[in-house]
Amino acid sequence: MSTGPGRPKDFIRVIIDEDLASGKHGRRVHTRFPPEPNGYLHIGHAKSICLNFGVAAEYGGLCNLRFDDTNPSKEEVEYVESIRGDVRWLGFDWDDRLYYASDYFERLYGYAVQLVRAGKAYVCDLSADQIREYRGTLTEPGRESPFRNRPVEENLDLFARMRGGEFDDGSRTLRAKIDMASGNLNMRDPVMYRILRAVHHRTGDSWCIYPMYDFAHCVSDSIEGITHSLCTLEFEDHRPLYDWFLDELKAECHPRQIEFARLNLSNTVLSKRKLIRLVREGHVSGWDDPRMPTLAGLRRRGYTPESIRNFCERIGLAKRDSTVDMALLEYCVREDLNKRAPRFMAVLRPLKVVIVNYPEDGFEELEAVNNPEDPGMGTRKVPFSRVLYIERDDYREDPPKQFHRLSPGREVRLRYAYYITCLEAVKDDKTGELIELRCTYDPETRGGDAPDGRKVKATLHWVSAGHALEAEVRLYEHLLATVPGEETEDLDFMDCLNPHSLEVLTSCRVEPGLAGAAAGSRCQFERQGYFTVDPDSSAERIVFNRIVSLKDTWARIEKAKRR
Ligand code: ATP
Ligand code: MG
Repeated sequence: MSTGPGRPKDFIRVIIDEDLASGKHGRRVHTRFPPEPNGYLHIGHAKSICLNFGVAAEYGGLCNLRFDDTNPSKEEVEYVESIRGDVRWLGFDWDDRLYYASDYFERLYGYAVQLVRAGKAYVCDLSADQIREYRGTLTEPGRESPFRNRPVEENLDLFARMRGGEFDDGSRTLRAKIDMASGNLNMRDPVMYRILRAVHHRTGDSWCIYPMYDFAHCVSDSIEGITHSLCTLEFEDHRPLYDWFLDELKAECHPRQIEFARLNLSNTVLSKRKLIRLVREGHVSGWDDPRMPTLAGLRRRGYTPESIRNFCERIGLAKRDSTVDMALLEYCVREDLNKRAPRFMAVLRPLKVVIVNYPEDGFEELEAVNNPEDPGMGTRKVPFSRVLYIERDDYREDPPKQFHRLSPGREVRLRYAYYITCLEAVKDDKTGELIELRCTYDPETRGGDAPDGRKVKATLHWVSAGHALEAEVRLYEHLLATVPGEETEDLDFMDCLNPHSLEVLTSCRVEPGLAGAAAGSRCQFERQGYFTVDPDSSAERIVFNRIVSLKDTWARIEKAKRR
């Protein structure tokens, strides 16, 4: 996939090649995608999904879907279901390998007891604040907990009673006994278990102690026989701990953790915590608002899974954080839809045009090409009549020099139809507002060419007023107007929200051929962009989302880079 001709293998695939060559892990490749069900997946997760499932497929290996559900206070079934749907929609399949860390609670508990027995873990009575205080800083070593040297028997007894529900939430923890002077803060006796009375979406109230991520994750990987545990850079400092647990447990399967840079995308946020705020505070209509960078949002916006997979391939893998321009994502969907989206004409801001020399009750059907990129998609008939709509922007009373579209006295082409010439503009007497244009057409130019070879400088899209369907069109812009510094916590991304990220046009007119278009189907509106039918559509009213306009800002960026 990411190893097309001329493209060097990324560092993860190089490592896997080496491991296969050296016979490590019995020459297997087994990865996993481990989401925490505490929100919807976003495009950053897509990078991880494509990597984990992609690598497995390339090497004839397997990839598991595993829910890292060890924090019941933030996790919900709704998230579990959305994640399953999103991974499948992206085009990946975990077959029968759907796992939950919570399925391992009993085994995790057993491994914890094993560490207690070995004198490698102890029950600590310090509060969370005290633990933090004792931990020290990057420049100062930590101090040992007064409970660190409890006898094994006492630890076993207290840990069992923690599980039994004898103690209050937060009153005790189980901690790994490692090194309070370690230069790596994660190694300073990290907490393995905490007491938390919260109903878990799978295990209900059968547990009141829950394992921490660092302990649960490596053990889950090992239980599942994972060979390469791919995660984002923030876990680099956790790797010694990952290895410590598995070494101390003498785990039969010891996966190799490899970190890669997470995806950051301009003009949006990729953090569930921030996305939850957008949803909860009502800045968007939900997790699937078409402006959201969630997979649910991108899907509703009209993005294809192919375009997202292609994007993930193009951005590649690196060891250093960077921010990818949103224009690249837009480029990918445009490129995909250019090949397969049927073309239609739609007028978003209608201006009435009356063809004065066309018969009052005249009507004809003109032939239009469905997709110039793919002749196999054929042609369709578009109705033409005396009263039409064109785009308001396509007429200027006082045209500036570079404006070649319609203006008084000027002739232009109507796509697939005729040349028309503007005679006059009818305005409202009182307000001066433009009401309609009166034009003539040249019957000799049917289909769009003049037999006398005369040229026009503009071709406009149009619809027949009596035949067009009324539609609502939702135009989207970036969620964030400016690019916040990568993970600058002090800059509140809420201050960057783009107030113009949604514009709703309610009196658009589209070709009648779009009647009954299914929700989720996509097309190009000529000269405007790619659009999809929103699920809000009804039999009476069709609603379109603009996926992306036709303007290619990515090409501009590339060109500027080359200069
Ligand atoms: P968030 O920061 O959005 O809350 P997370 O890391 O907490 O995300 P998880 O559910 O833990 O979300 O992530 C599941 C997997 O996806 C992890 O392996 C994580 O490293 C990876 N992942 C999360 N965000 C990104 C990203 N922006 N780019 C690439 N991979 C990511
Ligand atoms: Mg996480």
